[in-house]
Amino acid sequence: MSCPTCGGILEITQPDADRTDRFLAICSKCDDWSLISYQHDTGAIRLISLAVVTVELERGKPSGNPERG
Ligand SMILES: [Zn+2]
Repeated sequence: MSCPTCGGILEITQPDADRTDRFLAICSKCDDWSLISYQHDTGAIRLISLAVVTVELERGKPSGNPERG
């Protein structure tokens, strides 16, 4: 299995020992992260590149803003 972005070698880790169907893959070449999902019943493997997912974290400001009310 190779990186969808650059074709480099993926280093696969299993962050949650209880979830044997989900893995994190980090490319050794471009440092992109991917999520690997394995379907036990069908044997299908899905690789989701996290490089294309962009979340704006600044939008959710902490509560307690005095401007609202
Ligand atoms: Zn890569």
